[in-house]
Amino acid sequence: MNWLDNSQQAEFRNKVKEFLNNSIPSYYTNVTPDRIAEGHTGGWQYDLKVGSDDARYAAREWVTSLAKHDWVAPHWPEEYGGGGLTPMEQFILRSEFAWYGVPPVAGPGVNMLGPTIILHGTEKQKKELLPSILSGEVTWAQGYSEPGAGSDLASLQTQAVKDGDNYVINGQKIWTSSAHKADWIFILVRTDNEAPKHRGISFIYTNINQTGIDVRPIISGGWEHATNETFYQEVSVPIENRIGEENRCWYVAMTLLDHERSNITGAIEKKKTIQSLIQYIVNDSVFSKQLSRKAVRNEIVDRFIECEVGYNFSLRIISMQDAGLVPNQEASTSKLFNSELTQRLNQTGMKPFGLFANLWDPNDNRSPMNAQFTQKHVHQISATIAGGTSEIQRNIIATRGLGLPRG
Ligand SMILES: Cc1cc2nc3c(=O)[nH]c(=O)nc-3n(C[C@H](O)[C@H](O)[C@H](O)COP(=O)(O)OP(=O)(O)OC[C@H]3O[C@@H](n4cnc5c(N)ncnc54)[C@H](O)[C@@H]3O)c2cc1C
Repeated sequence: MNWLDNSQQAEFRNKVKEFLNNSIPSYYTNVTPDRIAEGHTGGWQYDLKVGSDDARYAAREWVTSLAKHDWVAPHWPEEYGGGGLTPMEQFILRSEFAWYGVPPVAGPGVNMLGPTIILHGTEKQKKELLPSILSGEVTWAQGYSEPGAGSDLASLQTQAVKDGDNYVINGQKIWTSSAHKADWIFILVRTDNEAPKHRGISFIYTNINQTGIDVRPIISGGWEHATNETFYQEVSVPIENRIGEENRCWYVAMTLLDHERSNITGAIEKKKTIQSLIQYIVNDSVFSKQLSRKAVRNEIVDRFIECEVGYNFSLRIISMQDAGLVPNQEASTSKLFNSELTQRLNQTGMKPFGLFANLWDPNDNRSPMNAQFTQKHVHQISATIAGGTSEIQRNIIATRGLGLPRG
C-alpha cells in the first residue's frame, strides 16, 4: 500500500485541484444550515431535476464544467463519454471532490447502470441510454429489493410474463431510493418460476411514470423522504428493454453492485467531520469546558483514530485494484467498519453538547454545529442496512476472508 502519490499521481491530483479551484459553483461552497445537517443526498442529478432555482442553476454549471474534462463518469471508458481514468486516478478525483465538498460522482445512472450497459447492453441500448445519463437529462432509480427479498435478493417475486413484443410486470419493490425524483427505473424480475432461483431472473428498465407503476413514499423516523415502495400492476414494457439474456441476468445484476468499492468519499467526509468537531469545541467558550472531561476527550480521540483507520481501509482497496486484484472481503471489511463508524461518530458528535444535542432545527442559533450530529444520528441509522447489512458483511468476512464454515 502506498500512502504517497508518485509523480504522475501528484500531477493528476494538481490537475483536479486546479479544476476545483476554478469551477465550483458558489451554491456548493456556501452551504446553508439545512444542507449541512442533511449531508450529501446523492448527487447533482437530483438538484438539476427537482432542486430549487439556485440548485438547478448550480447543477447545470457543475455538470457542464465536469463534461469538459469527461469527468461526469470518470470510470467509464472514453469511447462512451467517460474519463477512462485508472482506478488510482478515480480514487484521487473522488478524494479531492470529497475534500472540497462538491457533489460526489454518484447516482444510480452514473455509478451503476452505465457500467452495466457498457458491459452487457446492446449497441442500441448504449446509444439510447448512455448520453442522457451523462447529461443528467434522465435520472434513474434502482428497483432490486422487495419486501421478502433484500439480503436474499435471489428470492425476488416480481413477475414478468411475455405478451407479444412486451413483458407484463406485476409485483412490488421496496426501499427504492429517490424513485420519486427519478424518470426511469431498472428492476429485477422473475421470468421463469420453475428454474433454480438465481436462474430465472431478468433485468428490465422502464419509464417510471408509465401506467401501472405507483410510487409511494416511505417516511423515515427522521421525517425524511428518501426511499419509496414501488408497485407494478399490469405494466407493459418492450422486451427490448431487457439488458442481458433472459433468465440469466443474475450476473448482470451483480455487475451493477460492483461499482466503486473503496468508499473513499465517505471515509474523507468522516475525517472532515471529526476535524470540524474538534475545531468547533476547542474554539467554543462554552463547550470547550467539556474537553476537561476525560470520557469526552477519550471518545473524540478514539473516533479520530478510527477515521484514520477507515481511510486506510479505503486506501487498501484502491491499492489492490491498482495492482490488478479484485477486492472481496476487503470491501466488506471497509463497508462494515465505515458504516458502523458513521453511527459511532454521530453519537460522539452529540456528547459534548449535552442537552443542546436535543435541538433538531439546523437553523436554530442555539443548535451546535447546525444540529448536524443530531440529524445524522437519526438519518444514518440505515447506514448499517443499506447496501448490504452488517450481518451480511460479517458473513462474507467469516467465510471468504477467514475461511470459516457457513453457519
Ligand atoms: C436507506 C436505504 C436505501 C435503500 N435503497 C435501495 C435502493 O435504491 N434500491 C434497492 O433495491 N434497495 C435499496 N435498499 C434496500 C437494501 O438493499 C436492503 O434493505 C438490504 O439489502 C437488507 O435487506 P432487507 O431490508 O430485506 O433486510 P433482510 O434481508 O430481511 O434482513 C433483516 C435482518 O436479518 C439479517 N439477516 C438476513 N440474512 C442474514 C443472514 N444470512 N445471516 C445473518 N443475518 C441475516 C439482516 O442483517 C437484518 O438484520 C435500501 C435500504 C435502505 C435502508
